[in-house]
Amino acid sequence: METQVGIVGAGPAGLVLSHLLHLAGIDSVVLEQRSRSYVESRIRAGVLEQGSTDLLIETGVGARMLAEGAVHEGVNLQFDGQRHRIDLARLTGRRITVYGQQEVVKDLIAARLAAGGTIVFEADDVTPRGIDGAHPTIAFRHEGSERELSCDVVAGCDGFHGVCRGLIPDGVLTEFAREYPFAWLGVLAQVAPSTDELIYAFHARGFALHSLRSPEISRLYLQVDPADDIANWPDDRIWEELQLRLASPGWALDEGSIVEKAITAMRSYVCEPMQHGHLYLAGDAAHIVPPTGAKGMNLAIADVTVLARALSDWFGGGDHGGLDAYSERCLRRVWRVQDFSNTMTELMHVLPRGDPFASRVQLARQRYVATSAAMQHTIAENYVGLPLA
Ligand SMILES: Cc1cc2nc3c(=O)[nH]c(=O)nc-3n(C[C@H](O)[C@H](O)[C@H](O)COP(=O)(O)OP(=O)(O)OC[C@H]3O[C@@H](n4cnc5c(N)ncnc54)[C@H](O)[C@@H]3O)c2cc1C
Repeated sequence: METQVGIVGAGPAGLVLSHLLHLAGIDSVVLEQRSRSYVESRIRAGVLEQGSTDLLIETGVGARMLAEGAVHEGVNLQFDGQRHRIDLARLTGRRITVYGQQEVVKDLIAARLAAGGTIVFEADDVTPRGIDGAHPTIAFRHEGSERELSCDVVAGCDGFHGVCRGLIPDGVLTEFAREYPFAWLGVLAQVAPSTDELIYAFHARGFALHSLRSPEISRLYLQVDPADDIANWPDDRIWEELQLRLASPGWALDEGSIVEKAITAMRSYVCEPMQHGHLYLAGDAAHIVPPTGAKGMNLAIADVTVLARALSDWFGGGDHGGLDAYSERCLRRVWRVQDFSNTMTELMHVLPRGDPFASRVQLARQRYVATSAAMQHTIAENYVGLPLA
């Protein structure tokens, strides 16, 4: 097999990249270790920045999102029962769209296959080789046969646990990481959302988030201990805790049957640089943000927008400048988003006991958010997302 860009991973990063390259007349092959049905039903992110939705619409894969996604003009932050609405549209002129990541993935897979693109699902032992030379290859196993893909460039879009980041040699790669002392218990519930806009709630018992998926499905989260086990959380306990933490005068939370629940650790991670030789990392392969800022999928889309343009300049006219500057350009946005995600996380979660100073600073910050138009503007600007490069 031969192609111009060998893409490892069919998540948002790999699929958007393959789609953008196709529109620029550049050939790519996507190698994905999981099955199509698995990646199309993997429940994860659900909040799209305006820059991400604009890109999907402009490139012809936004029709279903426009029909089924919900555009939100505001977001609620709640501190001990008092709700404060941040008016995103008034403050920034921009909006967010609630549309499940798995739906974005389905739309992109359908578009790539309709355009004759190649996505190899259930590709095992994917192993890129020769990224330092002019002719990289990617070895893999498919349906029992050993295969090899020759390419000019490898795009590592294989998520946090993928193989591509490990190809950047020690001494070149620098890692920055932060583990948070809490995790999120995420729930998908068959019940109409009790709110039109997301509610981020700080409560003495811990953070809670009421998010949405569709008119019939709610997405809810609780701050829990990272060592906690989902077996400790029968559905009744989850609803009881959500009722307590999200409670607000004159508002009621409707309950329904829980169809999925899982605990996810929260961490921040960045690797620098995001490129080496003919390997370019994008999305979670290069960085992770805690989900409080709703940024992971958007950051993946932002990376590959930069990469697709740089590859187009190179394949189209031999200009390598964009590729040389790829990592530096992406990292500026990555660190801005790390700062925002970290700020939101520390603002909204109950901090571990034993640091009264940090708790007082947190309270002062929450009061500032509740009362300062300037602070609300800052949150709004970051939440809707900076324009794509
Ligand atoms: C609970 C939760 C809630 C979240 N909420 C939000 C949110 O509200 N908003 C937001 O923007 N982000 C959110 N995120 C983050 C977001 O889901 C990720 O940032 C996003 O999936 C990154 O896309 P990606 O394409 O870089 O990586 P991934 O989606 O992880 O895709 C990587 C792909 O590579 C494949 N792969 C891995 N290893 C290999 C290999 N060796 N060979 C071949 N294929 C491989 C994987 O199977 C996968 O399909 C959330 C994440 C979680 C877990």
